[in-house]
Amino acid sequence: MRAGAVRYLVVPTAEVAGGARSAEFGEQTIVWVPAEQRLGRASRTVPGLLLVTQVGRSFQDEYPGVTPLLDHGRHLVISAADKPRKRSNQCWRIEPLRPNTTIVETRAVSAARADPDVADLVGALSMTSYRNDLTWLASLPTRHSLSTTFTQAMDFAADRMVALGYQVGRTPITVGGGRSADLIGDRAGVGTNRGLVVVTAHLDSINIAGGPAAAAPGADDNGSGSAGVLELGRLLATRSWQHDTRLILFGGEEEGLFGSKQYVAALPAADRARIRAVLNMDMIATTNTATPTVLLEGAAVSSSQIDALATAAATYTGLKVETSLNPFASDHVPFINAGMPAVLTIEGADSANGHIHSANDTLNFIDWALAAEILRMNIAALAGWLEPTVARRRPQPAGSVVSWGPGRLDVFATGTDSALHHKAYDGAWHDFENLGGVVLG
Ligand SMILES: [Zn+2]
Repeated sequence: MRAGAVRYLVVPTAEVAGGARSAEFGEQTIVWVPAEQRLGRASRTVPGLLLVTQVGRSFQDEYPGVTPLLDHGRHLVISAADKPRKRSNQCWRIEPLRPNTTIVETRAVSAARADPDVADLVGALSMTSYRNDLTWLASLPTRHSLSTTFTQAMDFAADRMVALGYQVGRTPITVGGGRSADLIGDRAGVGTNRGLVVVTAHLDSINIAGGPAAAAPGADDNGSGSAGVLELGRLLATRSWQHDTRLILFGGEEEGLFGSKQYVAALPAADRARIRAVLNMDMIATTNTATPTVLLEGAAVSSSQIDALATAAATYTGLKVETSLNPFASDHVPFINAGMPAVLTIEGADSANGHIHSANDTLNFIDWALAAEILRMNIAALAGWLEPTVARRRPQPAGSVVSWGPGRLDVFATGTDSALHHKAYDGAWHDFENLGGVVLG
């Protein structure tokens, strides 16, 4: 350690005493003796520690000589002495590490009581359908946003959405000097004053070292999320909902969120105001951790959506949940920047996945069981945001049938036992049968 450098220590989060200057990264916390304290003078300067947020291992691959002081996958702490000249690019960002912050929180959420209707929907997840879609997408040589095979992938996804009953349209986008597209599928809810729930993923892939013509199967990044949009879209189309559903597959994500930035910029104010949640999936199918883990990444504007996802995970899956309010480098960011409640769901410790953005992002590294768990969590949360129109398992008393004549009223109603009951009035009420909980007079 250099003279004058901050003294730091990485310790288990559970052992951090109150009052320490610290930053939490899940089960690890970095604590430090502030430089100003050792120098004996007050200072507002941040200690010589920097936070790096990276996609995959992009920062570590670019700067192999920099040894992180703390490595929590997507988030690293490095010494200011190791700071490279660049501050950020599309794949990583450096910022001061602020004291007493939680960068990643391990959430111990208790399970809610499982709703039988939601459990039905969760149980209807088809990993055969998901596997077929992901296998097809990853079989294309590339889904680079400007390639003809990207258009082929979009045709495939559009056909699937049409077959599921969605109203499908394509919005042209620019990606640098080139042209690509976003694919949008809408399905109307049946309620009045309908909100909008958006399910997104980026369809494009990239091979950074090899260039646009090189192989980029993009199985995990982001065939896994794209096939997830199609499978969640299939499940959602099996029910009727109060609110509107919108599926979006973005282009131009890998070159700098072109598709989602242009989509959000063009989104009418009326639609922005009625968005109940934006659920983004980007890399949901590679296991990088000892236990299956999902990271829920959003911001203050999406904290209630993060809570709903964490509860869904605890209720319907065995996933370990980490959360972060440090949004970065995927299609949830433009929504969050515009004040909409968006959340990214991504495999835990995604930086340990060294295959992405290359020819090696293949089906060989796909963990179908992890994808299934994240999809179960997501469909359960979506059901809560979309609100079912009918509870299928617990029959509600149907509307009463009433007939009347002079001095007489007959009421027929379905009781809580699902049997038909009759009650009549001819000056006094007559109980012909038990009407259960149906209040009639
Ligand atoms: Zn991605």
